[in-house]
Amino acid sequence: MVAQTLEKPNVNRSSEAQKVYDAVIIGTGFAGLCMGIRLKKSGIDSFVILEKGNGIGGTWRDNTYPGAACDVQSHLYSFSFAPKSNWSRLFGPQKEILQYMNDCTDQFGIRSHIRTNSEVSGAWFDEKDGIWEISTKEGTTYKAKAVVSGTGGLSRPVLPNIKGIDTFKGAKFHSAKWDHSYDIQGKTVAVIGTGASAIQIVPTIAPLVGNLKLFQRTPAWIIPKPDSNIAGSVKGIFKFIPPLRWLFRKAIYWLNEIGVLAFAINPKLMKIFEKFAKSFIKKSIHSEELQQKLTPNYTIGCKRILLSNDYYPALNRENVDLITDGIQEITSSGVKTKDGKEHKVDAIIFATGFQAAEAVSPFEIRGRDGKLLADVWEDGAEAYLGTTVSGFPNLFMIVGPNTGLGHSSMILMIESQVQYTLQGIRYLRKKNIKFIDVRKDIQDKYNTEIQKRLSKSVWLTGGCVSWYNTSTGRNTTLWPGFTFEFKARTFFLSPKDYEFVRVDGKAKRPGIGSRFSMALNATFG
Ligand code: NAP
Repeated sequence: MVAQTLEKPNVNRSSEAQKVYDAVIIGTGFAGLCMGIRLKKSGIDSFVILEKGNGIGGTWRDNTYPGAACDVQSHLYSFSFAPKSNWSRLFGPQKEILQYMNDCTDQFGIRSHIRTNSEVSGAWFDEKDGIWEISTKEGTTYKAKAVVSGTGGLSRPVLPNIKGIDTFKGAKFHSAKWDHSYDIQGKTVAVIGTGASAIQIVPTIAPLVGNLKLFQRTPAWIIPKPDSNIAGSVKGIFKFIPPLRWLFRKAIYWLNEIGVLAFAINPKLMKIFEKFAKSFIKKSIHSEELQQKLTPNYTIGCKRILLSNDYYPALNRENVDLITDGIQEITSSGVKTKDGKEHKVDAIIFATGFQAAEAVSPFEIRGRDGKLLADVWEDGAEAYLGTTVSGFPNLFMIVGPNTGLGHSSMILMIESQVQYTLQGIRYLRKKNIKFIDVRKDIQDKYNTEIQKRLSKSVWLTGGCVSWYNTSTGRNTTLWPGFTFEFKARTFFLSPKDYEFVRVDGKAKRPGIGSRFSMALNATFG
């Protein structure tokens, strides 16, 4: 439980503290950038984007580990309104994705709205005026009608709770905070974790290090990555015949979308993928003992399915040991496993993931009556359409609860949520509307439906422990359907789902005509 402190920060008397923006956006990952771009494109200029780092890019700025690349095809993992013809590979590397984000920032003219080195420390809603106050650790306070949080699910790296972690004398860092000043050449290096980050790191550093000791708690299901360079001629075709590029994106989209049938609708279909993944292990791994260690005992899809062509070959290398005995503790010179053996290493890399499912917002958010979001979310985060939370008016979350995907590009979900949020912000720009607050009964009904659907999904029936679920086994992270369903449900912000409070204090909703014009303006404005 987070301590109840009702104090607001000292208000900075700068001009920022006097000005009331239409929106303050938090974060410059794909979510924050998309919101900024869509506001700008629809003629709304009164917004700032606060970024804690000193550059844009969110998770794609932070995750610079060797081998970092996307596991969704780049022609789909990019904005629908900003296609790029010359992706170098089918699955773009981190640097190219970050460059794309920077290019979009400049192309759509939103860089001047971005305030870097501005880490938000809290946001408070003033019900009397319908205004949010957002303060940064650097001491500036912003005021806005709406807050759009784009802080993402993968922005808080987690170091494992292993005894002795602080006693280790060598180099140690998390995969999302790679220490590039540390030279791993010829060193004995431990990698803890075998998730999406580790399977990219291991094959990239294995040829460089002296020895690599990989500590696996649970094996991941891995399938081949259909990756390759994209030939110059294909890039040329995409550039000069845009409909072909569009068709290519659509083909990827529908191929990925089929996965929903197995993830969320009938997990028995996963058996087909499982057979394929098992034969991939057999084909790729020489030793039978190693094959067994690498074969998961839960249904494929329960944890994120990983794509790699070079992870298994790396594990066949002489200088790589897969250690599955379980970690007892970390000592001053290495990692001690439960069989009593101490593995001495020069460095430990924690590829141990992020804090995603637990009910924490990265900073204090207080809504109506000073209610703290962390308290409301104590038993698991939930929102309406992953975007709005009852009691927290004019607050919109992009990549909020239950908007994650196991099968396709998150940018599809981000664009849908931004379309929805844009309508909310447009309503708030109407002079007589003070705030809009999603109705609790609507939010509850929605979440009952989502949880019922999730209960049949592989994420809850597949027999694994994953970060998708809270410690009490509730899935607060994933969307249990097709992305086109989510898009349809977020296309209109329906006024009847909200309490509309006007400046004169009356609660009167706009009519149905307004709903259509808002959506059309948001789409084409
Ligand atoms: P992750 O998938 O959560 O994997 C963390 C790994 O650390 C797991 O193998 C976990 O084991 C292990 N671990 C955690 N605590 C441990 C402990 N105390 N002792 C031993 N092992 C421990 O994290 P990630 O690999 O950073 O990936 C997180 C997410 O980031 C992915 O699911 C994906 O959405 C995203 N990502 C995407 C890409 C991309 O290509 N787009 C690349 C990297 C990451 P258990 O399985 O037993 O918990």
